[in-house]
Amino acid sequence: MRWLIASKQLGRFLLLAGVIQVAGPVVVHLSNRGGGLRAPSGLMTKSAFLLDMGCVVAWILAFALLTLVIRCPSCDERVFWWAVGKQPFPGGLREFLRLSACPKCGFPEQQNDP
Ligand SMILES: [Zn+2]
Repeated sequence: MRWLIASKQLGRFLLLAGVIQVAGPVVVHLSNRGGGLRAPSGLMTKSAFLLDMGCVVAWILAFALLTLVIRCPSCDERVFWWAVGKQPFPGGLREFLRLSACPKCGFPEQQNDP
């Protein structure tokens, strides 16, 4: 978390993580029970289906953006991608939240002074 704050990316991380937090359960809820939006036939209504698909797309977009925009300001390493793509799941995510420095260059602890 210290790295996120030091690199000034806490805001965008929380925004995108928030989208993931909201969209995920909505998709699960709609897919399981239709969220009260099922037609009498038991099938999802069109609006429930569209909301469901919209949330799936939002979830994927938010996740993709996280991997792309959460970068180290010092070395440009995609740190979120490093955490979810190169570390074992789900330990990598936990490690990401606990990061106090960039795994590649050590920002902000070992800043290279020119
Ligand atoms: Zn770095």
